[in-house]
Amino acid sequence: MKTWAEVEKIQPLASRIITNSIKKDRISHAYLIQGERGTGKEAIARLIAKGLFCEEKRGIEPCNECVNCKRITSGNHPDVHWIEPEGKSIKKEQVENLQKEFTYSGLESNQKVYVVKDADTLTTNASNRILKFLEEPSQQTTAIMLTENSRAILTTIRSRCQVIDLKPLNPASFRDKLKEEGMDNRNASLFSVLTNNLDEAKHWSEEEWFAESRKLMVQLIEMFSSKPEDVYLFIHSHLLPHLKDRDNQERGLDLLLLAFRDILYFSIGNEEGLVFFDSQEEIVERLAMEFSQEKLIEILNAILQAKRKLKQNVQPMLVFEQLMLQIKR
Ligand SMILES: [Zn+2]
Repeated sequence: MKTWAEVEKIQPLASRIITNSIKKDRISHAYLIQGERGTGKEAIARLIAKGLFCEEKRGIEPCNECVNCKRITSGNHPDVHWIEPEGKSIKKEQVENLQKEFTYSGLESNQKVYVVKDADTLTTNASNRILKFLEEPSQQTTAIMLTENSRAILTTIRSRCQVIDLKPLNPASFRDKLKEEGMDNRNASLFSVLTNNLDEAKHWSEEEWFAESRKLMVQLIEMFSSKPEDVYLFIHSHLLPHLKDRDNQERGLDLLLLAFRDILYFSIGNEEGLVFFDSQEEIVERLAMEFSQEKLIEILNAILQAKRKLKQNVQPMLVFEQLMLQIKR
């Protein structure tokens, strides 16, 4: 997204708030932009910076052609600094280095922007350094903090920022985008509900792991009606060895949830809503005959409960065994 007009389409509220302040020449001295992956945090940060530095602005829109715009796009503008985690966190030294650089002012202008990516990873010491910055606001410094989780940010920092909440992407428009990128219907439907991130979706669609997981989930569901006595053996010999770590196990439960949700959708006549079985109506039709709607709702709740247990570090084998019992019952 290189213009506010594009941001407006997916984040109308955020766009309106910020462009209003650009129009009035009253850019906030600190923003905290919160939103999931893929919702446009970095693009908005670049647009704010361009609003301050572009030499050929057309109304609120940057030209995207001048030297300043180009440098901001490529991340090389001398007065627009980006800080991101080194390893797992953003350390005090990183913030100190930034402040040092700021004191060599007047490189290009006195205007400075700093963008803190994953601001929830600031260590306490680093947070306190940033706080100092925010407590002495300068007309010419703009801080932009980006985070997926603003609750993890010190309240003292949050209270000094204008908080901008980004909406999660709408799965339908994201699915269309994935199709435009060349993904087939089945993958586009599934990945548009599993992630908001284009690169992640593309990466997953090329991974053998997902294709295999889908197959295993279908086999498992079929087994509940055809050979329920084999379910245990199947999860120990096929499913769990495939779901090696906690990430995989959680994702596996997500897939199972979507599959059962599709069966419920199909049985109540909402075929539009299919994501796991998109373009595979003959399979879902067959499965829908095996489970009552009441049972399906019970199963969906059991899977959600299993997800919570995994998060609470209950042994995966136990979680899956209990879940299978609940489904079979
Ligand atoms: Zn420009």
